[in-house]
Amino acid sequence: MKFEKLLSPIEINGLELKNRMSMAPMVTNFATREGVVTQQLKDYYEERAKGGVGIIVVEACCVSYPIGLSTAQQIGVYDDRQIPGLKELVDVIHRHDCKICFQLHHAGHRATRSLVGYQPVSASEIADKGRWNQWIGGESPRALTTGEVEEMVKAFAAGAERAKAAGADAVEIHGAHGYLVLNFLSPLYNRRTDKYGGDVEGRTTFAREITQLIRKSLGNEFPILFRISGEESVEGGLELEEAQTICSILEKAGVDAFDVVSGSHDAYQEVIPPADFAPGWRVYMAEAIKKTVSVPVMTTGRIQDPRLAEKILREGRADLIGLGRALVCDPEFPSKIAQGRVDEIRRCIACNRGCIDRLRTIDLEGNSLMTCLQNPMVGREKEFALQPAEVKKRVVVIGGGAAGMEAAVVAASRGHEVILLEKKNVLGGQVTLAAIPPYKDEVSNVVRYLESQLSKFGVRTELGKEATPESVELLKPDVVILATGGLPYIPTIPGIDRENVITAWDVLGGKETGNTVVVAGGGMVGCETAEFLAEKGKKVTLVEQLPVIAQDMDFVRKGMLLERFDEYPVVIKRNVKIREITGDGVITGDGEKIAADTIVLALGVVANRDLEMSLRNNRWELYCVGDCDKPGNLMTGIHRAFHVARRV
Ligand SMILES: Cc1cc2nc3c(=O)[nH]c(=O)nc-3n(C[C@H](O)[C@H](O)[C@H](O)COP(=O)(O)OP(=O)(O)OC[C@H]3O[C@@H](n4cnc5c(N)ncnc54)[C@H](O)[C@@H]3O)c2cc1C
Repeated sequence: MKFEKLLSPIEINGLELKNRMSMAPMVTNFATREGVVTQQLKDYYEERAKGGVGIIVVEACCVSYPIGLSTAQQIGVYDDRQIPGLKELVDVIHRHDCKICFQLHHAGHRATRSLVGYQPVSASEIADKGRWNQWIGGESPRALTTGEVEEMVKAFAAGAERAKAAGADAVEIHGAHGYLVLNFLSPLYNRRTDKYGGDVEGRTTFAREITQLIRKSLGNEFPILFRISGEESVEGGLELEEAQTICSILEKAGVDAFDVVSGSHDAYQEVIPPADFAPGWRVYMAEAIKKTVSVPVMTTGRIQDPRLAEKILREGRADLIGLGRALVCDPEFPSKIAQGRVDEIRRCIACNRGCIDRLRTIDLEGNSLMTCLQNPMVGREKEFALQPAEVKKRVVVIGGGAAGMEAAVVAASRGHEVILLEKKNVLGGQVTLAAIPPYKDEVSNVVRYLESQLSKFGVRTELGKEATPESVELLKPDVVILATGGLPYIPTIPGIDRENVITAWDVLGGKETGNTVVVAGGGMVGCETAEFLAEKGKKVTLVEQLPVIAQDMDFVRKGMLLERFDEYPVVIKRNVKIREITGDGVITGDGEKIAADTIVLALGVVANRDLEMSLRNNRWELYCVGDCDKPGNLMTGIHRAFHVARRV
């Protein structure tokens, strides 16, 4: 496929972009606590600019401190002292023929008292429900007075002025995702009776005044973008028809392009849609808005395949494509398209592990920084940049799962001679099973990408070759990387060796079960296997000894899965331990009998380190990576493999 549309230039109010790919704003938390741009931020964005994207919309920049903050290390445009840092960022991005736009943001009712020190503010005193209750915020806000709203309009305009003073090419008003501007647009959250409330026209007053004041301050030539939730996706919230009206009003007020997304913190699954959503599922919203405005319209969300992006543009459903996680995962996404290397794109699998879930995890230094499951270099672009090996070594990698493949690719890309041994006839290890449950097929892209890199860097890949101490010895390695993965954990429960007991790995590998099934273990693998079986019409009971299930899943995908369990339905038994397995079911610690034809074990993984002791000697360096080092997940496995291989 040729990517003529995607690679063609486009103008936004006189600003020419070299292609139709725009980096979507995504909070990284890489700024200082004073909201100042850091070297880490510059390196992160420079890598994406270098990768060929037409414009970068720099993540939510706070316009009003502290009340508008949503994360501790957010970029600020609320203080002139932030301008020099912003300018450095602009310069870095401009070096690569890439345009830069700062997104103007106020958290509104999504702020938290613990972070900002005050009661959050909003259009009215209505707290959002923060569905699944696992994200920050959700506190009852205070309604801004009319005078305060007018001051807030000025704060947005002042932020835009600072962005322009720093040399930005454009600004974007964040009017989506449950933050202050959407709080005003929303019929659910705006119950005001002053000029900022009422009908759709009244609710748009705040956004319109912000647009008009920015236009007045920055002149007619300065591009203003507006990000809108085409649907707020909560009962009583903003719907597409009203969003169309809002966009018409804002176009007249001076908006030069619309970036159409959806959702709010009541529908967080839509803010950063995981793989449970079909690629391009919300393009229809941009398409509808495009019918009511004459300026360019961008569609963003779950567009990770350039072929889909090109198709959307060719069909005239949108004018620009917003790329978020796709560029976190592979900064070179645009240049690979331009160079005809589409098959080499490391495609985002929409797992939300590193980019989103990590923002909720505080590290040892008190930070919660973005990363990526497949790309360990995110936010460490300079520090972790791969260097050619000083001494060329023969590296033998044992195990062709994700961790072994990553280690092999990284070592080979640095110039080592690499031999990869895999005992099965296919690569991928557990990923071949991980991709089987519903909504999981994207995971196989991890293997597809690594496979392309193995051949690119000339790794000698030997399938159907089980490594033994003798076969490794014959290869005369300098370095051995053990990546033999894990094996299902089988505890000593009476009856565990009965014929009616199989593992989740067996089921996902194609083994049949009876019609009624007990899945033992409510972690991610147990839950996903339960869904896989329920979808086939099996009657499933999921038994977990802890009070919670799916603890090891990211919170968005977990929330969606639990809702689907209600639909099937899957019976979930928490705080229940299996005491014994019989020929027709299980007996719990309380003596309850749960009837089942088949018992499926999903009780975790143990490291497969059988070879380790026999391979430990002083003739070669030995490292363990992936589940064989410590049972974990794809992110822990890939990251550890990357770090071992970048140093050997
Ligand atoms: C059903 C399921 C769903 C999952 N879903 C997710 C998910 O959504 N997200 C996530 O992050 N993680 C998920 N995981 C976990 C993740 O897949 C694993 O943590 C990861 O794949 C482990 O990779 P690995 O390379 O360390 O090991 P493995 O994938 O186990 O690979 C080890 C490889 O070594 C080979 N091998 C073993 N011994 C030898 C030998 N002697 N010689 C040669 N080859 C040998 C094996 O055949 C295998 O191919 C899931 C796991 C399962 C089972």
